[in-house]
Amino acid sequence: MRRKLVAGNWKLNGSLAANKGLLQAVRDGVKGQADVAVCVPYPYLAQARAALEGSSVTWGAQDVSEHAQGAWTGEVSGSMLADFACRYVLVGHSERRSFFGDTDTVVAAKFAAAQVAGLTPVLCVGETLAEREAGITGEVVTRQIEAVLANSGVDAFASAVVAYEPVWAIGTGRTASPEQAQEVHALIRARFERDSQQVASGLRLLYGGSVKANNAAELFGQPDIDGGLIGGASLVAEDFLAICAAA
Ligand code: PEP
Repeated sequence: MRRKLVAGNWKLNGSLAANKGLLQAVRDGVKGQADVAVCVPYPYLAQARAALEGSSVTWGAQDVSEHAQGAWTGEVSGSMLADFACRYVLVGHSERRSFFGDTDTVVAAKFAAAQVAGLTPVLCVGETLAEREAGITGEVVTRQIEAVLANSGVDAFASAVVAYEPVWAIGTGRTASPEQAQEVHALIRARFERDSQQVASGLRLLYGGSVKANNAAELFGQPDIDGGLIGGASLVAEDFLAICAAA
């Protein structure tokens, strides 16, 4: 039985003042059997650590450099994130892929860099609306996963998470139906089963894309959906906690 995971993605939001109440409310409000994490902007990692250390809630970042150190102005390495006791790091979020040029190859390198630093990468994959309408959702998601498998191998996924996030559902209020999401999750798990039954059965597959308190339970009730990656709703404690409770 896979333990559910709910991870918040704060994106480019927050302030020291606003985060204080949110982190405290999440710390105090999380109960139950699911793992919960928040992926905060880099400058707030120390604040998240101070607020959450000693609780069941873990924290992480939204991106990581593929490089370990050196002349890469603006980058943040995996070991720097490990210095702040991060557990998770997102790699290949669709906003990184589409606005910052993260190719499949770069995402694969970031995935590996995260693992070298002892972090758990959350590999984000998903198709655009045009790709879904063209009937190539499976191809796109498989291609994104193959790049990482080719670089890191299937066993690397024993300590990783995959998040299926249809681009058309992120921040749009348009959620994939539980059936649509389950179909892609099953396809992803089947891909891993080809290489390792054991890795496939233990791999946590999150769904992300306009998950809200009122649709979380149905999504999380699907056999291959092991939790969620939550954007907008992770910024409102009451909403995020309701989603965690649904998991
Ligand atoms: C995300 O940022 O990964 C996300 C799923 O956002 P939202 O929940 O707002 O759609």
